Amino acid sequence: MSKNYLQHAEQLLLELLAIPGLSGDELGVMEYVVEHLRSAGATEGTIEFDRAHRRIPFGGQCGNLVLKLPGTRGGQRRMLMAHTDTVPICRGARPVRKGKYIVPADEHTGLGADDRTGTAAILAAAMAVLSEKLDTPPLTFMWAVQEEIGLYGARYATLGLLGKPKMAFNFDGGATDKITIGATGGYRMAIRVSGTASHAGAAPERGVSAITIASLAIADLHRDGWLGKIEKPSGSGTSNVGAIQGGEATNVITPEVTLRAEARSHNPAFRAKIIAAIETAFNKAAKSVRNDSGKCGGVEIDGRLDYESFRLTDDSTPVLVAEEVVRSLGGVPVRAISNGGLDANWITARGIPTVTLGCGQENAHTPAERCDLKEFRRSCEIALKLATG
Ligand SMILES: [Zn+2]
Repeated sequence: MSKNYLQHAEQLLLELLAIPGLSGDELGVMEYVVEHLRSAGATEGTIEFDRAHRRIPFGGQCGNLVLKLPGTRGGQRRMLMAHTDTVPICRGARPVRKGKYIVPADEHTGLGADDRTGTAAILAAAMAVLSEKLDTPPLTFMWAVQEEIGLYGARYATLGLLGKPKMAFNFDGGATDKITIGATGGYRMAIRVSGTASHAGAAPERGVSAITIASLAIADLHRDGWLGKIEKPSGSGTSNVGAIQGGEATNVITPEVTLRAEARSHNPAFRAKIIAAIETAFNKAAKSVRNDSGKCGGVEIDGRLDYESFRLTDDSTPVLVAEEVVRSLGGVPVRAISNGGLDANWITARGIPTVTLGCGQENAHTPAERCDLKEFRRSCEIALKLATG
C-alpha cells in the first residue's frame, strides 16, 4: 500500500468533514464524490443516482450515489458502501488535525466522522482502482443517504442499479478489528393517551387525567422490568419511553398526552413480547383511572418496524473475506453484534449479505467525537484490499 494512497485518503477525509450534510442535505457531499470519481477516470454511465429520496417520508436533496465497475476479471461482484449524512450536532463542524486525531474545532459541535470516515475510505479505494487501473472483480460502490434518521437510503436503494453484488462491506464504525455480522431490530411506537378534561379545583372528580394514566403505565413497566435493559428468562432486549408531551395548565385535568417509545431485540419474538408488555401496561392503566361517573381513559398505539434484526452465519462469505483481509494487514478480527441498527440491516434483508467494518470513528453523536487516524488509515487499506480481492 503506497504512502501516497493513505495521504490522499486523509486529504479526502479532511475535505469531506468540512462539507455540511445532515440527513436529507447530502448533495454537497455527493457532488464532491462525483467530481473526484470523474477526476480519477470514472466514465459517463458508471456513476448514477437512484431516487431513494422520492420514497423517503422527509424527502431530501438526492438519492444514493452508485458507482458500478465491470472489473478486469470474473468473480462475484462486491459492494463497498458507507452513509454520507451526519447527525444534527455536527451542524457547523470544522475539522482540525490534532496529533493522531481529527477533532472538531468548536467544542459544541460533533465532527461527522460518523460516517465521513467510511465515505472517504471507499472513495479513496474507488479512486485508486480507477486511476491506477487495478485488477479487480466486478465492483459496486454505494454512498448512501439518510442513514441517521432511519436507515432510509439502504431501505429504499434501487437494487437494479447495483449489478447484483453477492456480498457487501459497509464502512461505519470504530475499531477496524471489529467485524459486525449482525444487528438488533427496532420498533417505534407513538402512544396517544386520552382522558377527560375538567376543572382541577372545581370538579377534579369529573376528570380523567391522561398524565396519571401515562405515569401508571410507565411505573408498571419500570417495576416489572420492561423498561430500559430487559433481561427475562424468555429473552433480552431494550425499551425506552423517549418523549412525552401534553398538558397546558395546572388547573385543568389533562385530557391528552402523547408519548414516543421504542423496543429493540435481536429476537423478533421477544421484541413482540416487549411491545405487548408496553401495550398491556397502557391499556391497563387507562382502564384503572376513572371519573365519578365511571368513565375511564383510552389509548391508541401506532407502531412500525424500523428495521429487522439479522445475523450472518459464521461461514458466510463476506464474514470470511473480511476476516482474511483484516488478518492479512496484521489485525485480529473479532466478530460482533450491534445493538443499534445499521444500513447492513436493510441491505442484508434485501438479499445482499453485508458485514460492517470500522473506520476510525470515536464517540459518535457527541461533541467528543473524533477520528482515530491510525484506524482510519487501516480502514482505507482494508477497503482497497476488499476492492482488489
Ligand atoms: Zn453511522
